[in-house]
Amino acid sequence: MEIEHWSHQHPLALGSYAAVEDDGPTSRPESGKSDQEAPPKCYGCDQSITGQFYACESCNFHLHKPCADLPSDQLRHPYHPPHALTLRVAWRQHNCTFCHSPILGFNYCCDSCKFYLDSRCASVHSTIKYEDRGHLYFLRENEPNTIFHCNMCNDYGGDTHLFQCVVPSCFKSFHFHCAPLPFPKVIKSECHFHPVTYVKSYLQHWHDDQYCDACENPRNPKLPVYYCAECDFAAHISCTVKEVLPSILEEYEKDAKVREDLTKDARLQRIDRRISDARYEEKRLAAELEKIAARLEVLRENRAEYISSTSPELAESSTSAPPSAQ
Ligand SMILES: [Zn+2]
Ligand SMILES: [Zn+2]
Ligand SMILES: [Zn+2]
Ligand SMILES: [Zn+2]
Ligand SMILES: [Zn+2]
Ligand SMILES: [Zn+2]
Ligand SMILES: [Zn+2]
Ligand SMILES: [Zn+2]
Repeated sequence: MEIEHWSHQHPLALGSYAAVEDDGPTSRPESGKSDQEAPPKCYGCDQSITGQFYACESCNFHLHKPCADLPSDQLRHPYHPPHALTLRVAWRQHNCTFCHSPILGFNYCCDSCKFYLDSRCASVHSTIKYEDRGHLYFLRENEPNTIFHCNMCNDYGGDTHLFQCVVPSCFKSFHFHCAPLPFPKVIKSECHFHPVTYVKSYLQHWHDDQYCDACENPRNPKLPVYYCAECDFAAHISCTVKEVLPSILEEYEKDAKVREDLTKDARLQRIDRRISDARYEEKRLAAELEKIAARLEVLRENRAEYISSTSPELAESSTSAPPSAQ
């Protein structure tokens, strides 16, 4: 099967690379080329070709099928609700607003907002999100070997899940467990048959390495967990609340709206109070100014009288030039 694609002047043929089991990241072309040959890179995302792809063999041009299938015109994307995004090809001019990786190949952008999405983040998107006072947070997995700054605990990286604000140039992110969400004190989760309790940190003393008993991935003993004392069961917050997360987010958003309305009112009251303070001050100073002007008038008259009574010829030259304010 051949297609015409906007990114290349020749027709592209559909092919597929099968990943080789137990052989790490290398893959083998089904067409029977050498096993050792490194897979070509995708023009759309600069990642190695795997799975289905389109190619122009004479130009050594390759595109992942998902990259080729990205819409070539404008894209409405949940990470940038206000505007449609435009497809472009760029190399290292910007970082992806969502995953912060340098953009290589296809990307969608909104120039007026300086919002950029690489093809990977554009083609799959997180649906778990919440809005809070002008911020829009999406849940995402932390990229391996990348660190991020948590704006809540001020620590760097670590956790595999984080909430990331998608407002252009905001860059706010929280560890999953640091997000200001109403995590229940006690919860009955599918990951354990007893109710589990939120604890701020937990170290299993008879183990060298600390693991989450739900996902069996390593966990940091200094971070909060849900815990069952009876079974010595400790699990990530994210692993435990998975099923109830949508309702937790909904509850938080509702509260955030109420809080926003309240702070708006409180702020308005504060501003109004300052305006009336300033008006009072303005009136007071105006009255003061009037008094000073009147006093000045009297003093000028006194001076003129004095001068004319002592020496009339001095009065001629001096009445017009009393001491200046400076
Ligand atoms: Zn690609
Ligand atoms: Zn070609
Ligand atoms: Zn990205
Ligand atoms: Zn925009
Ligand atoms: Zn933000
Ligand atoms: Zn944190
Ligand atoms: Zn876990
Ligand atoms: Zn238990």
